[in-house]
Amino acid sequence: MGARHRIGGDPEWIQDPDIPACGCAQPMSFYAQIDSLGDAVCIGDCGMVYVFICWDCLTTKSVLQSY
Ligand SMILES: [Zn+2]
Repeated sequence: MGARHRIGGDPEWIQDPDIPACGCAQPMSFYAQIDSLGDAVCIGDCGMVYVFICWDCLTTKSVLQSY
C-alpha cells in the first residue's frame, strides 16, 4: 500500500478491468492510478483510484476499486 502510484502505462486492477465510457462516445485512456496512502488515508480496504481521460474532449473520470 502506498507504493502503487503510476502515471501512464497500464492500470494495475484490483478487481476486474472497469474502463469508463466518455459522454462523447470516444474510448477513454488510462492516465494514472493513485494508491491508498496508509492507515491515515486508506481508500476502502487498501483501495486504488484509477483516472481516465478522453483525449477528444478532455473529460476525466475516475474509478475506485478496493479489496
Ligand atoms: Zn470525450
